[in-house]
Amino acid sequence: MPVPPFTAVVDTLPETVPFVGPEAIERKTGIKTRARIGANESVFGPSPKALQAIRDNADTVWSYGDPENYELQHALAAKFGVSPEEITIGEGIDGLMSWVVRLFIAPGDKVVMAAGGYPTFIYHVSGYGGELHYVPYMRDHEDPIALASKAREVGAKMVYLANPDNPMGTWWPAETIQAFIDAVPEDCVIVLDEAYGECAPDGTMPAIDTSRANVLRMRTFSKAYGLAGMRCGYAIGNARLTRAFNRIRNHFGVTRLTQAAALAALQDEEHLNWALASIDASRERLYAIAKDNGLEPIPSATNFVTIDCMRDGAFAKAVLDALAEQGVFIRKPGSPGHDRCIRVSCGPEREMDIFAQALPLALKQAQGVA
Ligand SMILES: *Cc1c(COP(=O)(O)O)cnc(C)c1O
Repeated sequence: MPVPPFTAVVDTLPETVPFVGPEAIERKTGIKTRARIGANESVFGPSPKALQAIRDNADTVWSYGDPENYELQHALAAKFGVSPEEITIGEGIDGLMSWVVRLFIAPGDKVVMAAGGYPTFIYHVSGYGGELHYVPYMRDHEDPIALASKAREVGAKMVYLANPDNPMGTWWPAETIQAFIDAVPEDCVIVLDEAYGECAPDGTMPAIDTSRANVLRMRTFSKAYGLAGMRCGYAIGNARLTRAFNRIRNHFGVTRLTQAAALAALQDEEHLNWALASIDASRERLYAIAKDNGLEPIPSATNFVTIDCMRDGAFAKAVLDALAEQGVFIRKPGSPGHDRCIRVSCGPEREMDIFAQALPLALKQAQGVA
C-alpha cells in the first residue's frame, strides 16, 4: 500500500520527545512530584502584576493576539535602546531557534556548537538537515574561541553559544564573548543564547550592537521572569536579521495573554530584582547542600546549579532516579564528560529543604546500585 512519503530530512529523524517531563514520570511511576526543580522554571513564580494581566485579559481569549506584538516589541526596544524593528518576538527562545535555523540552514549546511550544549538547538538543526560540527567543552565551560575557529575551519553558516551556559551553569565575561563575536566570520550567523542573562553577574553580557550583521541575542521570559508556561522569548539584532523572521514565523504564535503577561512582567522590575535575589540565595543553598554531601557544585550564573557527583554517568543517573522515587524532579546532563553531574533548579526554601532531605538517602541508594 502506498503511503504519503515524508521529506528526505524528516524520514531520517527519530520520533522522540527529547524532554521527559515530571508529568510523564508521574504517569509512569505513580509517584507524585513534591519538588519540581528540574527544568529551570522559576519556582519563585512571575510578577503578581503579570498574573493580574492574565486575569484581566482572560475574557479576550476568543481573539488572536496582535500579530505584530506591537506593545511588547516597543517596550523591549525602549528597554534596550534599540529600534523596534531590531526586536523579534516568538514562542520562547525554542520557537525562535526553529525560525532562525529555517532562515539560514538548508540540508548539508554546517552549524557549529559545543558538544553537550543545549539539546533543543540540535533538535532544530537536525530538523532542517543541517550538519552539526561539535567543539569540546573546556573545563565545564563552552569554549568561545574554539567555537569561532571551528566555524571558520568548516565554513559554518551558523554558530551557537549559550552564555551563561545550560547544562553546566558556567559563564564568560563580556570581553570573552566580544572576542568570540569578533572572531566569527561575518557571514556566519551567531546565535548567542542569553536565556539566563538576567541571573548572571554584571559584566557578563556584552553591549548590544545591532550594527553587527550576523549577531542575534536571544532572551526569554521563561527563566528569571517566571513565565515558562506562557511561551515568550525575543531576539535582538540587526534589522536585516530580525525582520527576516516575518517571512516565516508563526504570526499568531504569541497569544494575547502571553503578550499581556510579558509586558506586565517587563514593567515590574521590583519583582525581577526580588526573584534574582531569591535565585542568588537558592544557589548558595544548593552549593552548601552539595558540599554537605561530599559533592562538588559547579559555580553557576544561572537559576540552577550543576553538581558534580564525583563518579561516572551511571552513578549520577542512579542519584537522579533515587531522587525521583522520593518525588524530587531534577535533570542531568547526558553527554560524555558532563554526565557525571546532576542539574538542580533554584527554588524557595520549601523545595530546597525537600532536596536537602532527599539527597543523602538518594546517594546511599545510588552507591548500592552503581
Ligand atoms: C530554558 C532555555 C531555553 C528555552 O527558553 P524558552 O524561551 O522557554 O523557549 C533556551 N535556551 C537555553 C540555554 C535554555 O536553558
